[in-house]
Amino acid sequence: MHEPKPIEHSIFMGQVADNGYQIQTPAGTTSYLLEKPGSTKYKTYEPLVENPALFAEFAELEPTKEAITDFANKYGLLIGKGYPVVKGSKSNFSTAVTPGDPVLIWFNEIAHMKALMTIWRHYLEQNKEALAQWFYWENGQIKCVPLTKTYPGDNSPYAWHDFSQSVNNLLAIPKVAAQIIPGDILLPVKIFVMTVVNDKLVQYPALAQITINVNGLILAPKFQPKNLLSVLWFQFSRYVIGELKVTPCIVCGGWVEFTDGKKMKAHPACSNRWRVKKSRIRPDVLRLHAEGKTVSEITLALNADRRMVLQILEVANGRFN
Ligand SMILES: [Zn+2]
Repeated sequence: MHEPKPIEHSIFMGQVADNGYQIQTPAGTTSYLLEKPGSTKYKTYEPLVENPALFAEFAELEPTKEAITDFANKYGLLIGKGYPVVKGSKSNFSTAVTPGDPVLIWFNEIAHMKALMTIWRHYLEQNKEALAQWFYWENGQIKCVPLTKTYPGDNSPYAWHDFSQSVNNLLAIPKVAAQIIPGDILLPVKIFVMTVVNDKLVQYPALAQITINVNGLILAPKFQPKNLLSVLWFQFSRYVIGELKVTPCIVCGGWVEFTDGKKMKAHPACSNRWRVKKSRIRPDVLRLHAEGKTVSEITLALNADRRMVLQILEVANGRFN
């Protein structure tokens, strides 16, 4: 029987202002990503249901003002705490709070998730050589190299918090220490990722609750992330423990969630477009194939996707042979 996973019960309603967002730098402060004035409506959506691979999309953002504005225009603010703005003239003014995020939070979180995704992918591939850029042993202690980055338009270099001490403390737990193979970095990397994810989940928590599962009426865990940033780290934590699987969509290349055994690794909309196009070009593919054209020639002649041509021919051969 299908065991419901915590993420399936979890709730978060995302909000996107209809006028979108823009970056402003109020005098004497840092840059903010703020809601454009005059928004009256908000589009709502459920990222945990509709965009389970959103964290992977976020991790791929370039740290530019354009990229984060585009992302916010699609999915809303990360925290949306708000920035007080003064409205009106000098003699008749009022202060209002405009929902917004410090731009630096965006750059920091993108850099962290990007690095952690890279580290975790190397971990899954057991690529010790690549991991050695970040992790090495020195005098019986593991060193986790902090990430340093300077953001465009901002002079404050951001240094990743050094988690080495926390990782070494966990490695020193006798039951863990007994299992360390000298010189191995894979276990330290796993513990590093766990430590960073937990640090993020403390900063951007999801309220833990329980709910009744309508299938079988059993009590099940439920999480309620506080804001979009909580959603992203919550998704990431599910990805790391293997409850959430993501892969590039075979049609558009964007990230998509997949469940084991699912044939088509694509967004539902992409998968529909794929099917429509496939049935449209099918007669031509079969005709050209019958004329003795190669797969490459057919692909070129029809300006089609090579994998689509192959899919059509495999099915056709299966049927006609
Ligand atoms: Zn797609």
